Amino acid sequence: MTSNNAKTYQNYINGSFEAARELIDVRNPANGEILSRVPESSPEDVESALQAARRAQKDWARRPAVERAAYLHRLAEKIRQEAKLLAHTITAEQGKTSALAETEVNFTADYLDYMAEWARRIEGEIIESDRRKESIFLYRKPLGVIAGILPWNFPFFLIARKMAPALVTGNTIVIKPSEETPNNCFEFARLLDQTGLPPGVFNVVSGGGVSTGSALTESSLVDMISFTGSVATGSSIMRNAANNITKVNLELGGKAPAIVLNDADIDLAVNSIRASRIINTGQVCNCAERVYVQRQVAEEFSAKIAQAMSTTTYGDPLAQPDVEMGPLINQKGLDKVAQMVQTAIQDGADLLTGGQVADLGAGFHYQPTVLANCRSDMSIMRDEIFGPVLPIQIIDDLDEAISLANESDYGLTSSIYTQSLEKAMHACRELDFGETYINRENFEAMQGFHAGTRKSGIGGADGKHGLYEYTRTQVAYIQT
Ligand code: NAD
Repeated sequence: MTSNNAKTYQNYINGSFEAARELIDVRNPANGEILSRVPESSPEDVESALQAARRAQKDWARRPAVERAAYLHRLAEKIRQEAKLLAHTITAEQGKTSALAETEVNFTADYLDYMAEWARRIEGEIIESDRRKESIFLYRKPLGVIAGILPWNFPFFLIARKMAPALVTGNTIVIKPSEETPNNCFEFARLLDQTGLPPGVFNVVSGGGVSTGSALTESSLVDMISFTGSVATGSSIMRNAANNITKVNLELGGKAPAIVLNDADIDLAVNSIRASRIINTGQVCNCAERVYVQRQVAEEFSAKIAQAMSTTTYGDPLAQPDVEMGPLINQKGLDKVAQMVQTAIQDGADLLTGGQVADLGAGFHYQPTVLANCRSDMSIMRDEIFGPVLPIQIIDDLDEAISLANESDYGLTSSIYTQSLEKAMHACRELDFGETYINRENFEAMQGFHAGTRKSGIGGADGKHGLYEYTRTQVAYIQT
């Protein structure tokens, strides 16, 4: 199905929109409609964007940080003015609800303002010397040219999460959006272009991972690859980066454990875990992917969450604006979720609700699903599901839960529900994760630091520590 409104987008290179030779279709995952055609960028397109970023970088870095930050503030204002249109673009290509898309757009504007405000707070150090009449200055300098490679689940916000700290610290950037959700990125570029940003500071090349993505990660013109996506892609990017000893910043997958103890407020746990499992149709790196519930409250918790999940409404979020959940991103994602649930049931899990592909005539919809009596050897408790499916395992005490939670390839986020400060603090000490939420689920704050241990990534984003990921140091020894 092709919409008459299908747009053709162009790459944004060196401050202008440039036609590409080859185009790919972008579809609405809720109904299969073709929304747009976007460049399948060639290695030459990528090279041209990187060269533009390289040419622009020195002059950009020489400007005062407040001058660089002013462009981010201007962009934030434009994003707020066009919030409805941007949210519609995101919902159409990604399938999240309009309410969540609007939240993403407004959060992005706030994030740009927040990062811009760091302009007057970027600080070096003065270090005591061993020598007489010597001063040691530690400067923070930009890395140079950043390659930002994005996933599709929060496509608009993730542009800002990479470009805002990059630009305010004096770097230039080339963004490759996911081939599933490039439209919002071109709209972002359109607005940024209206701010009068100097050519080459921000560039967009769309295209597939292996074709366009590899051309970025193989290039010696890149000083850091900032990637958000799957572990498999992260690993392949590291291999390419190794050839040029390019720095990597990797935000990868998650398998967040939620621990529910006997003394928890069960209704609070049910409401927040359910919300985290259906938001963005379960396609969030930091939402509860597995529950460890203590035996005494297991039956109550399981019954209540199964009931709550079964009432979740879903469908095409543009046609039915009130639904709580849209489709999964594509057929591959739907097949993966369906297969994982089937395997879990074959392996002995009890299906409490859902468990089927939802036949709505079109789109990649899956029923909200709860699986009880899962075991730690099951793939559903070990591998990222990325869908509205909640597997539950019974545990006898907190230490068992902590040790099962830590026995994972992933170490992004974790949560615990308890009324006991002592147990909460014990969990914070013992859980080997980048983030731990007490009596709540995601999301993280922009002033925090979003980072994972184990295969969930290297480095992180947000806050002061996220800002400094985009800098290197230079130490000057000054004899006078
Ligand atoms: P993905 O790894 O399939 O793709 C991400 C991006 O990488 C896309 O732009 C893709 O085109 C590109 N890519 C693919 N192969 C490449 C290659 N060989 N070289 C260079 N680029 C390549 O991930 P996805 O399906 O888009 O996103 C879902 C994943 O992202 C999940 O695992 C999720 O947990 C993770 N994620 C993590 C965070 C976080 O902050 N840790 C946030 C959002 C999503």
